[in-house]
Amino acid sequence: MKVGLFFGSFNPVHVGHLIIAESALNETDLDRVWLVVSPQNPLKNKANLIGEYERYCMVELALGNHERIHASNFEFTLPRPSYTIDTLKKLKEQHPTYQFSLIMGEDNLDHLHKWKDYETILQSYPIWVYPRIGSDGSGFERYPEVRKFQFPYLDISATRVRELLAEGKAVRYIVTEKVYAYIQKHGLYGAN
Ligand code: ATP
Repeated sequence: MKVGLFFGSFNPVHVGHLIIAESALNETDLDRVWLVVSPQNPLKNKANLIGEYERYCMVELALGNHERIHASNFEFTLPRPSYTIDTLKKLKEQHPTYQFSLIMGEDNLDHLHKWKDYETILQSYPIWVYPRIGSDGSGFERYPEVRKFQFPYLDISATRVRELLAEGKAVRYIVTEKVYAYIQKHGLYGAN
């Protein structure tokens, strides 16, 4: 079984994330995509980051019972901050027959060299990368071993979703209806 791991804060999960996962299934040879909720990205600012449990719940709500795209809270049990290489090693121990790969946006290639043991990651795991507007393709030249797949450009981010919510604006179709209902019920991100 080939499993593509799509790591993120998912703070909150939005349709951009879902379309990336779907595109990865359509455009690659992956059998499954896991949306892996990172408790805390070591390279990201912690301000505005809500609890990991809520973020994971929202990913589950967004996916419903999708046959091939699943939510993962695997990193919740690992020491913090969780580095991708450590997560990959632990996942391999737990699922020795699975072939894991990474899914990421082209922008991530700009700071891949800061990741712990990034050379080992590049050598040992396939990396599926989708192009992003604003990135100039140089990442693909720097890392010829990464594999490219297409994803339709969407100008959506969790940051923008949080801003809209804080301004009392609607995001129902950006985050899916069930996620929107959850955000409202729990008054997340200043929603009312
Ligand atoms: P934030 O705005 O809080 O930084 P984000 O929406 O970029 O969050 P993350 O949860 O960190 O989301 O997302 C995981 C991955 O999804 C990141 O690598 C990010 O680049 C990518 N991503 C998010 N939104 C889009 C989008 N609209 N198009 C392409 N990639 C996206």
